[in-house]
Amino acid sequence: MSEKTAATKVIKCSFCDEQAVTVIRYAKLRLCRKHFTDFIVRKVRRSIERYRLIESGWRVLVAVSGGKDSNSLLHILAKLSKEMNFEIIALHIDLGIGEYSKKSREAVEKLCKGLGVPLVVVDLRELIGAGLPDIVARTRRPACSVCGLIKRYVINVVGVELGANVVALGHHLDDLLPYIFKNFILQNLGEISKLGPKTESDEGLIGRVRPLYEVFESELALYATFESIPVVDETCPLTIRGRSLESEVRDFLERLESRSPGFKIGFARSIARNIDFYRRGLASSKPLRRCAYCGMPTSEDVCAFCKLTERTLGKPMGPIVREKVRKVIASLGLVRKSEASN
Ligand code: SF4
Ligand code: ZN
Ligand code: ZN
Repeated sequence: MSEKTAATKVIKCSFCDEQAVTVIRYAKLRLCRKHFTDFIVRKVRRSIERYRLIESGWRVLVAVSGGKDSNSLLHILAKLSKEMNFEIIALHIDLGIGEYSKKSREAVEKLCKGLGVPLVVVDLRELIGAGLPDIVARTRRPACSVCGLIKRYVINVVGVELGANVVALGHHLDDLLPYIFKNFILQNLGEISKLGPKTESDEGLIGRVRPLYEVFESELALYATFESIPVVDETCPLTIRGRSLESEVRDFLERLESRSPGFKIGFARSIARNIDFYRRGLASSKPLRRCAYCGMPTSEDVCAFCKLTERTLGKPMGPIVREKVRKVIASLGLVRKSEASN
């Protein structure tokens, strides 16, 4: 190939003379590595501001699984926490899923050490004497549903004990839209309100925010590579394989995006604008009260976590989890935020 032909093939970054390594079709940009990672951090900052996810002075608990999405979220929030003046603490739940959990935990520990971010690790086997696979084996529910229930409960307990203002989750655009669309098809409109950029805090229930609401999965994969973020590169062995309604919807949305770049972000913004409308679909849900065993918020007499553990382990484990989480937090020298500001 002649020199002239080779030179004409180099595509320059839209902001500098470096070679572009990616094309952002919806923003009509070609970006080098540096400007791509800057672009993602700016984009997350704009989402935090647009949807009012985090305020100055807040304590943010970041739930980190070890995968590229939540590990990248922590990396991005570590940069933004300085310029936007909020505090971050990472939380990792070791689910006890063999090698997969071991590698996930190692990736999170390495990342937090490198970033200098305090990390709370809670090991399910130490909390309740059983790992996720043991609990799943004792119920008929799908693994991911049991896992989601346990993680929601533990994350909330840790958030309450730390006095966190919000919990940040690593859900991105390509995670959320298929579920939103599926719930629309099934007309579970109330459920859509739980999939927006944030859910508000309630008595004893820490609000959840999704700073990656407008970020594509492919962008996170690239960000994690360019920033050399340690991640577990295996899939959870309990993942359910096969075609589901979500995966059909995912392909459909992908086709729309490739035909009209920017479609997905526009759709996500419309959902966020109409979130109050979707929330009305939940109007019939019962008011929150306190679990008879552990005192955490629930719409029933007993919370879902205490029910699950009572059924599978013979004892409601909520009170024990709260006690052990307090000890883990104290052993790390972390102080509950309200106490810290007294
Ligand atoms: Fe939990 Fe399912 Fe994710 Fe495995 S794939 S970590 S079981 S939610
Ligand atoms: Zn550049
Ligand atoms: Zn309970």
